[in-house]
Amino acid sequence: MSAVIATAQGTETSESTTDNLARPERIIEIVAVILLGLATIGTAWCAFQAAQWSGASTDLARQASTQQVENARVFGLATQTVAYDSAFVAQYAEAAAVGNTRLLSFYRASLMRPEFKPVLDEWEAELNAGQTPTPLVDDSEYLAAQFADYQKGVEVAEQQSSKGQVAGDNASAYVAVTILLAVTLFFIGVTSSFKFRPARALLLAENRDRALHVHFIKSEEMDADLPGWLADRITAAADGEGRYALDAIAEARALRGDGERLRALVGHLTRAGVIAPAPSAPDRIAGRVLARYDGRAAALCRASIEEGARARWRQYREIWAYVEQDSCRRLAILRHFGDHSEPGSGASGCCDVCDPALQVVAPPPDPVEIGNLDEAILAVASCARPAVGRTTCAEILHGSRSKKIQRNSYDGLPAYGSSSHMRRADILARVDELIDEGRLQTSGGPYPVLRVAA
Ligand SMILES: [Zn+2]
Repeated sequence: MSAVIATAQGTETSESTTDNLARPERIIEIVAVILLGLATIGTAWCAFQAAQWSGASTDLARQASTQQVENARVFGLATQTVAYDSAFVAQYAEAAAVGNTRLLSFYRASLMRPEFKPVLDEWEAELNAGQTPTPLVDDSEYLAAQFADYQKGVEVAEQQSSKGQVAGDNASAYVAVTILLAVTLFFIGVTSSFKFRPARALLLAENRDRALHVHFIKSEEMDADLPGWLADRITAAADGEGRYALDAIAEARALRGDGERLRALVGHLTRAGVIAPAPSAPDRIAGRVLARYDGRAAALCRASIEEGARARWRQYREIWAYVEQDSCRRLAILRHFGDHSEPGSGASGCCDVCDPALQVVAPPPDPVEIGNLDEAILAVASCARPAVGRTTCAEILHGSRSKKIQRNSYDGLPAYGSSSHMRRADILARVDELIDEGRLQTSGGPYPVLRVAA
């Protein structure tokens, strides 16, 4: 639908609006300004805090991971020390067993770690007292001493990691508050600007919009043979249990690229009870075949197609009745949405029916430019091979570099790019006016092409 319903804010300047405000309204505006200020400062502060906490969280996570690498190194070192001490004790025990005191002194002087001396002394004392000394790997005091640095490192890493988590949680909380405040800002802004300047309803619709509307309804008209055609293709693709899955793009290509038409056809077959579509990706059509496409199904599809066309014409009549009505447009919009308040009918500035001064008048087109444009449009419509539709015609005149233009050498036409200074929508609008005036005709089918009227 190209008729446009425009709502515009009042055009009073803010100064005159402020002058006319009653005292309570002024107070509300002042409160709104204060709230806007607070929310703005709050948003900025929260955004800053979120960034700070997020940075701290990242730093702590990095420190924890560095600490863990160091911990692994310290653990390796402690394990090697315990292995060395165990091997040393084994050698020392062998020398002690044979009573080789020279070798024992050598071991003590040259091979023993100085830190190991108290442990060895205790070990030797227990042995001399006739007791069985505790093996090194079971001596918890000894082991605790060797792994003390490692344990300290693990605690540090855990602390850093949990601090990082808290910082991350804080960052998320500040992000949430920032969003909340931003939303509040939006609503304060919206409410304060709507409160005292009522919206207006204007309608911008021209005759060519009506022509375009008819064009689209006609291009959606469907050949009664098409449902049977698609039913055949679906049945051929179905498995033994009637399940089918087809490539929607390939099927649409068979319909000259009209995906909209493919969806409509699936709808008609479904309503006729021939297929039951299953949910699928947009590029697949899938489901199950329920019944044969027989005479009855064909009649149901025909009825479904006719009902669709009737609905489109009904919408056409409704929307154009709205366009042409001479009662308040705001009232119609309010009632449509179930609002029973009165727009203050007859009040100036309500809508373009209540206040004709609001009606928008398009500036008259430059006759020379229109003359040249008409010639160019008619030239493209009669010379382009393959013949082109209204959109491609406008693209050629506008000087588009699309693949379609290059593939068909439309850029070699004399009129190519002759209206590149215009808006493409305006060129298209003039094409539609020429169709409306009967100087151009369009063929039927999903891809109608232009030809010059005889
Ligand atoms: Zn009105």
